[in-house]
Amino acid sequence: MEDIRNAILSGADAATIAALPIPATYRGAHVRLADVEMFAGLDSHEKDPRKSIHVGEVPTPELAPDEVYVAVMASSINFNTVWTSIFEPIHTFGPMQRLGRESELAKRHDRDYQVIGSDASGVVLKVGAAVRTWKPGDKVTVHCNHVDDQDQSAHNDSMMASNQRIWGYETNFGGLADMAVVKANQLMPKPAHLSWEEAAVNALCNSTSYRMLVSQNGARMKQGDVVLIWGATGGIGAYAVQYVLNGGGIPVGVVSSSDKADILREMGCEAVIDRKAANYKFFNEDGSHNEKEWRRLGSDIRALVGEDPDIVFEHPGRSTFGASMYVVKRGGTVVTCAATSGFMLEFDNRHFWMRLKKLVGSHFANYREAWEANRLIGKGMIHPVMSQVFSLEDVGEAAYQVHHNMHEGKLGILCLAPEEGLGIDDPELRAKVGEENINRFRRAGV
Ligand code: NAP
Repeated sequence: MEDIRNAILSGADAATIAALPIPATYRGAHVRLADVEMFAGLDSHEKDPRKSIHVGEVPTPELAPDEVYVAVMASSINFNTVWTSIFEPIHTFGPMQRLGRESELAKRHDRDYQVIGSDASGVVLKVGAAVRTWKPGDKVTVHCNHVDDQDQSAHNDSMMASNQRIWGYETNFGGLADMAVVKANQLMPKPAHLSWEEAAVNALCNSTSYRMLVSQNGARMKQGDVVLIWGATGGIGAYAVQYVLNGGGIPVGVVSSSDKADILREMGCEAVIDRKAANYKFFNEDGSHNEKEWRRLGSDIRALVGEDPDIVFEHPGRSTFGASMYVVKRGGTVVTCAATSGFMLEFDNRHFWMRLKKLVGSHFANYREAWEANRLIGKGMIHPVMSQVFSLEDVGEAAYQVHHNMHEGKLGILCLAPEEGLGIDDPELRAKVGEENINRFRRAGV
């Protein structure tokens, strides 16, 4: 692995990279099947990713014809890293066991450990016999939509595929490692003006926000739309704010501290709600909904932008969903991709049907959407939202911070990259885009 790292760092050509032997083992952050009951009986917040995530050598799986080995220079923490490591809402060995029943090669995924991680930037080391569009030496980022493209249901919109999975969450051989195994149709060009870690943090969250707001499969935001964004400096929210601003919309960002509110204003989001200061109580003591508080949120939004939101970017779930469905404009759309605070959601259907509102479920992004979202990063029109960088050995700590909402934006992880700031191939574009845009979140976490 050291030879691979050195070759990449010294700018070795494609032929040299192609000639490098693939090591029999590699360093990967993983969870273990034997541990899935280790947090039984504990509340969610007591389950500690630092105890369940191990970093160590794992065997290198063989390569399928449509796959590539990627030398991972950097990766990132996603909320799914938290879910995997606390074994909630399900442990992720079940999906891999089901995947293992699909074909001979798919059996590789069904192991007693799972290398986790759904983002990566790096260099293609070796391609399978069926790979045509990528070659050793290509600098790439990886999106996490894992589909079987021989299945008819994977065509049209591959997120609709019957066996669609999230790489590094519902599959093995993920990105929080020195090497990863991915399908060729997960690869995208690495944005040349970004370092390895800046390039690694985007694909999952950026593509998710793109589909939710911009794609025809999502809320189809148009110029002038008011968009309420929960967790507006979090992983997906911070990209959502950028999409609304780029698309001529009016973001209303909700955050939980004055520091986060400052970041939003610096991003150009003028309408900001500090939910902690506002202290909304959407639930009464007995667990029933408090419609008065939904109305108070609605009034706060009107006070800021003069109207109700056309779109609500929803993901906290149980704690906010009733309010989101209430405040969205007559005929407006709530688009949701998650339920961090609880999956069983309630809302008042009277407000929903009488005001002809829409609810759109959204999940990651198809290859085309991920490619478009990556293209916008590559052009410097959407920026990474990385606040801190950790080493691979500290993945557990980084996941702990995301679990406890101690972070802003995204947390980058250095894998083969020995230090930050490497891998920038287009300093001119970088200068044009501006360090203040690329590093806006850096001052927050450090
Ligand atoms: P994140 O970085 O932790 O950001 C989420 C933000 O939501 C937090 O920063 C917090 O912001 C806010 N929040 C948390 N709990 C809240 C609550 N009870 N009420 C209101 N706001 C709350 O996570 P992320 O990466 O943005 O992901 C958010 C969710 O989306 C996760 O559940 C994740 O699994 C899911 N997700 C789904 C997909 C998909 O494809 N389906 C893709 C990406 C993420 P403040 O404290 O500042 O308000």
